[in-house]
Amino acid sequence: MSTIRVTVWNEFRHEKEKDAVKSIYPDGMHEAIAAYLRQQPGLAVRTATLDEPEHGLTEEVLAETDVLTWWGHAAHAEVQDEIVDRVQARILDGMGLIVLHSGHFSKIFKHMMGTSCALKWREVAEKERLWVVNPVHPITQGLGPYIELPHTEMYGEPFDIPTPDKVIFISWFAGGEVFRSGATWTRGKGKIFYFRPGHETFPIFHNPEILKVIENAVRWAAFAGSAAVDMSVAKVEPLEDLPTQD
Ligand code: ZN
Repeated sequence: MSTIRVTVWNEFRHEKEKDAVKSIYPDGMHEAIAAYLRQQPGLAVRTATLDEPEHGLTEEVLAETDVLTWWGHAAHAEVQDEIVDRVQARILDGMGLIVLHSGHFSKIFKHMMGTSCALKWREVAEKERLWVVNPVHPITQGLGPYIELPHTEMYGEPFDIPTPDKVIFISWFAGGEVFRSGATWTRGKGKIFYFRPGHETFPIFHNPEILKVIENAVRWAAFAGSAAVDMSVAKVEPLEDLPTQD
């Protein structure tokens, strides 16, 4: 199997501005995720962040990316529309997209979903249990029946997303809410996975099970089809002889 090229994208602002976040992720959340992925076989990993030129997502970088992971929160509006369009085009052409946590409100996720992607939230460090509701899916391999996180931010339904192709995880929160915490879609030739955990003030991206899910999702989202798949608009001739009209 050929190497999967992964680009881990992060807004990378909270880690520079808040000591509480910096203490958990001294090199940024992207480096915590990338450091894990670099240790896994068959993955070639790079990172990109908002404040790099073109947000680190040049035409060249995207052309060399099979799967893009996305974490953003406070600066969604600063992502240039031109770059969002570029990422969308690459997804439609087969690049996988993994959207993490507050990335639900990113321009690219809303762009791909076509809905508001709004949800309910609360930050009181309550317990979350992510139930695996699709135990035969590639994304849940190696997991038990659930993942338990002792302290998380709560996200609650209704989550304004289009009906997913597959729901992978449903979360229960100590405060009583539930949430579709893992869900997949297909857009063009591209596979998309949304994964809820990952609030910046909790060490979620140091949790081995969370990292395993991200790794599984990377492998799942990498385009396995033929590059020759044609999804362009085209006028075509009939395959059969059709009766001519007088
Ligand atoms: Zn959060």
